[in-house]
Amino acid sequence: MILPGNYVRDLLQQSPGTAATARGWVKTRRDGKNVHFIQLNDGSSPTDLQVVLDEGVVPPEVVARITTGACLSVEGELVASPGKGQAVELKTRKLVVHGAAHPEEYPLQKKKHNLETLRPLGHLRARTNTFGAVFRVRNVLGRAIHKFFQDRGFLYVHTPIISSSDAEGAGSMFQVTTLELDQMARWGKPPDFGQDFFGRRSYLTVSGQLEAEILALAFANVYTFGPTFRAENSNTPRHLAEFYMIEPEMAFCDLNDDQDVAEAFLKNLVEEVFGACRPDLEFLSKWYEPELFKSLESVLGGSFERISYTEAIALLQKAGRNWEFPTNWGADLQSEHERYLTEELFKKPVIVTNYPREIKAFYMRSNNDEKTVAAMDVLVPRIGEIIGGSQREERHDVLLHKIREHAAMGMKEEAYWWYLELRRFGGVEHAGFGLGFERMMMYLTGMKNIRDVIPFPRSPGNAEF
Ligand code: ATP
Ligand code: MN
Repeated sequence: MILPGNYVRDLLQQSPGTAATARGWVKTRRDGKNVHFIQLNDGSSPTDLQVVLDEGVVPPEVVARITTGACLSVEGELVASPGKGQAVELKTRKLVVHGAAHPEEYPLQKKKHNLETLRPLGHLRARTNTFGAVFRVRNVLGRAIHKFFQDRGFLYVHTPIISSSDAEGAGSMFQVTTLELDQMARWGKPPDFGQDFFGRRSYLTVSGQLEAEILALAFANVYTFGPTFRAENSNTPRHLAEFYMIEPEMAFCDLNDDQDVAEAFLKNLVEEVFGACRPDLEFLSKWYEPELFKSLESVLGGSFERISYTEAIALLQKAGRNWEFPTNWGADLQSEHERYLTEELFKKPVIVTNYPREIKAFYMRSNNDEKTVAAMDVLVPRIGEIIGGSQREERHDVLLHKIREHAAMGMKEEAYWWYLELRRFGGVEHAGFGLGFERMMMYLTGMKNIRDVIPFPRSPGNAEF
């Protein structure tokens, strides 16, 4: 295996004269007079290691197998490189081809590929420069998220992936069952979910929030970081059926504190990724989003704009646009509205608060005006909504009333017994939010389609790999 110190990233930093072994996959091979130049990468670096192979070091039949996509080990010495773009190159003493890649059949030849044609190549696209950069950023982002919360004393908690509560109707859910549905259909029997594995209908979770609230009322500050599932049949560039969500939940916290945490969090994540992934961001900016640095710097620069939903509606009405969707008070903000506010009007992240209660979830805390709830969405340029959060309703009677109001829409009071009971035993004001990990990835990398920031995207009609 490759040990620390031997990644391509590390080898490129070493001084000439060092003995080294490199392992990886061939990006390209170029032939000079009596010499071959091989660009080798193991995924650790946006820059390839140049391997120099003199004629005669390995037999011609081995050289013939060194083609784009082949997997190699190369032993030799790092020497000063006369070429541009790298300080050292590896002069080959010994070379082994582990796996060849037939030049006529290997799909990732040197030419530039567009992202759509790479999507069906989920088993190979991670080896391209683009996905190398994207998945390295993804790794650093994951680490930065944990670091942010760990540094602040938050407890990392795990909430269930299989759940029986229709958590808030955040989106349509995938049902989980072990019933033999096709047999039942053949016998003409309707399924009896009482006989199902959990003795009731169960689903893949759409959010860990309700359970995170339980843990926040024991550990004060907690966060989840795990997969969530939404069977929304919206084939958009911003929605996946399976995506990762980060959900901090904080006791002794109101909507203002919640906004402060969200703002500090996003700023910190941008800073960390800037620090650790600059060459990757430069590559992505060059090929995919010329405004990338400008837009990320706008996060670090000043403070986020904070406006109420009511103010947002007034601004949209004043904009003098032909909106596709309505902008009357009470209408939900659509992507076109969100992007106008953050991209065009304020040109920086915007937090919109206090939405009408009708368009938000039952657990959000009612404001004194009786019309709005203590919700917040964070909007960023190019993406729109990246975070959705709220202060939670901690008053037992108000919450019970709200759940009963929703009974007509299928909400069952009994199913929320524990959620209500939390309000009877040691309740306190608390708040939290959910950050879509892949939305943040889109923001950081400049990728326009959410399917290109996760290794194996799940979307309607799509579960290959
Ligand atoms: P949207 O209106 O964009 O569908 P939402 O209001 O359904 O989002 P929430 O339920 O508030 O989103 O979820 C919290 C966060 O999770 C969102 O702000 C977004 O970043 C992310 N998110 C929501 N749905 C998806 C999805 N289908 N794919 C990827 N990320 C998502
Ligand atoms: Mn949604």
